[in-house]
Amino acid sequence: MIDPLPVLQSTFGFPAFRGVQGAVVERVLAGERTLAVMPTGAGKSLCYQLPSVVLEGTCVVVSPLIALMHDQLRAATAIGIRAATLTSVDTDQAETIARFRRGELDLLYVAPERASSGAFRDLLTRAPLGLFAIDEAHCVSEWGHDFRPDYRLLRPLLDAFPDVPRLALTATADAVTRADILEQLGIPHEGMIVAGFDRPNIQYRISPKDNATRQIADLIAETPGAGIVYLQSRAGTEKMAEALAKTGRPTRAYHAGLDPHVRAKNQADFVASEDMVMCATVAFGMGIDKPDVRFVAHAGLPKSIESYYQETGRAGRDGDPAVAHLFWGAEDFARARQRIGEVEPARQPGERQRLAALGALAETAGCRRRILLKHFGDESPENCGNCDNCLNPPAAVDATEVARKFLSAVFRTGQSFGAGYIEQILIGQSNERSLMNGHEALAVFGIASSPEEAALIKPVGRALLLRDALRANDFGGLEFGPGARGILKEGEQVALIVPPKRERRRRGGAGS
Ligand code: ADP
Ligand code: ZN
Repeated sequence: MIDPLPVLQSTFGFPAFRGVQGAVVERVLAGERTLAVMPTGAGKSLCYQLPSVVLEGTCVVVSPLIALMHDQLRAATAIGIRAATLTSVDTDQAETIARFRRGELDLLYVAPERASSGAFRDLLTRAPLGLFAIDEAHCVSEWGHDFRPDYRLLRPLLDAFPDVPRLALTATADAVTRADILEQLGIPHEGMIVAGFDRPNIQYRISPKDNATRQIADLIAETPGAGIVYLQSRAGTEKMAEALAKTGRPTRAYHAGLDPHVRAKNQADFVASEDMVMCATVAFGMGIDKPDVRFVAHAGLPKSIESYYQETGRAGRDGDPAVAHLFWGAEDFARARQRIGEVEPARQPGERQRLAALGALAETAGCRRRILLKHFGDESPENCGNCDNCLNPPAAVDATEVARKFLSAVFRTGQSFGAGYIEQILIGQSNERSLMNGHEALAVFGIASSPEEAALIKPVGRALLLRDALRANDFGGLEFGPGARGILKEGEQVALIVPPKRERRRRGGAGS
């Protein structure tokens, strides 16, 4: 077998392989089918780019996003790799096809819908092939978080060239998805190579949201350096950028609705800056090479643990301390549940599982990193020493009694009032509405009026929404969800996590 090291050094300018890269490249050069599961930033591209230079014939790379392909193309061309893309926006398609047929390409990037077409298969029979690389391979699985039906059509193409080695790559795949990728792409189990997912320099913090703008301004104040704030709406990014500008730090907004020139300028400004705060939708981040991002904040729930890992993973790529802080609200979970109700029925159980995993991460009193890594099949110690819960162990309060009272107040008032009203009823705060409704005569009126219990009502409401024991209707009215029964009838406990006070948290900050 050819020794890849001289090429690693001469073409790529790296002294050595990183992590599992060497193992992956070795399998590929030996012609063996492989699935590489490597976190973002671990250097997946090298795993097929290096073989593409070493192997005879072209490496055909299937990639789901044209923008991503063009980034890759630029980077590969810059170091002298003979690469091309074959996409609908390329005007040089005829020339690319000619070069491909003459064996003058190391890398050819195509989208899955083209790769699976008959015309492309014909083309492959007339060109020298060295390797199939399937990037973002989780797209092949319905279990994955980003299923693309076109990926399913790749298998017949791969099987038409059984002697060409295949390398699937993904950053984000839980155990079920991984097994499915192997199955769907015809890769044997021993062909899976998983890199460590831990990012020890990232400090994970998760808190309930009360005033996200203020909370993020506080985070910025204690965290020097560039950072990203992820928001759920385009308008939200602009509002946040404006609000955070008052902290004195330079800010920019980024979302798909911005003029492309503005977007590119904002991105370039961010990459060049040492203290800028980028307020963005998740459209921001892919393919951006900025190693010194010091914090990533989420002002709302990410789509899944996979997205959370990927988005927070943009912090601290240089290995220096960085913070990832997620602020969630019960309404985020309610909205996510509602959205799940709207997807096709077959996909709902998977989506629900994904949301429950996020809920567990948000709700835990234990180590965040442990839950995160366990999701990716990584073992980790009980206590990582670098997440909010490990640094400042939260106290747990048994709130089961208050939770039951909350649920009965919702039930007695007819499952149509909002959290604020229920709180007033429980405390026994008389007002015109409760008087008019005759609710002051109910046994639940004032049933949680002691200061200790009253203090728990708000967080209990959040916890009940998070557990799907309560659901909010379109008007904010609360009604029972499937989780109510366990608490009311089956003795299920509700433990509340009391976050440590801010002063204490500050001491445990990234402090650089
Ligand atoms: P991924 O696709 O896994 O997110 P990339 O392929 O974009 O990661 O690589 C991330 C960064 O790591 C790039 O800047 C790349 O040049 C760098 N890199 C890759 N392999 C090595 C290596 N062996 N040594 C040093 N840097 C590397
Ligand atoms: Zn921890």
